[in-house]
Amino acid sequence: MTEDLYSILRKDVRFIEGLNACINCGTCTAICPAAEFYNYDPRFIVNTVQSKDNNRIKELLKSDTIWYCGECLSCKTRCPRDNTPGYIIQALRHLSHQSGYFVESEKGRQSLAIKRTVGEEILKSGYCMFVDRITTEMHPEQGPVWDWVRKNAKEVYERCGGNYKGEGVGAMRKIPDEALAELKSIFDVSGGTEFFENIEEHSKRKAEELKLQFDNTNDCEYFKHVYSSNNNKHTIK
Ligand code: SF4
Ligand code: SF4
Repeated sequence: MTEDLYSILRKDVRFIEGLNACINCGTCTAICPAAEFYNYDPRFIVNTVQSKDNNRIKELLKSDTIWYCGECLSCKTRCPRDNTPGYIIQALRHLSHQSGYFVESEKGRQSLAIKRTVGEEILKSGYCMFVDRITTEMHPEQGPVWDWVRKNAKEVYERCGGNYKGEGVGAMRKIPDEALAELKSIFDVSGGTEFFENIEEHSKRKAEELKLQFDNTNDCEYFKHVYSSNNNKHTIK
């Protein structure tokens, strides 16, 4: 990508809405819940972007930093200049995906995992996670809970007033094929499909660089690497 990165950011509606003028006061960092846990400073991100320095912005796009934000938008409520660092970070993430720089950071590379385990699921089932389709071995942090819910899904969802795999309305109902087809059309015309393809394309390039086997399954070496890597440098010790 050869175009000036700041100029591209300036065309993004989230950036336009998110940045007026930052006075570097640090209020956003003081209130940010992510900054309590991660090596993370939204003030630094806003200040970097505001510098208009292409190299510094590029480094940001390649870094873990832009992936720590939880998008809670607490920063919006307190900024004395009416900036929204959370929106600026959304614009940066979008540009990191577009440019392919996301594969240069551990957290950025996890975009592939989210795309395959959540994004694609929306298209396949109409849910970001449908109980029948969860691979529980991929979520050891849940312990035996999800296995139990899967085994007893009908009773569990009926007790909660759901309509598990039923016709008509209600939580966990079956999403009709025509609704799924409509969802796919929305992804196609809104750029979602292209966005997904872009994540796959750049991830494949990175896998080749790392000499890790890559295919469209969650069993390939690159996916497992992305899913399980942790350099232990993300959080405040
Ligand atoms: S609170 Fe607003 S003005 Fe202060 S550092 Fe954060 S973005 Fe800049
Ligand atoms: S939106 Fe992001 S940067 Fe803003 S307070 Fe929440 S976690 Fe922090």
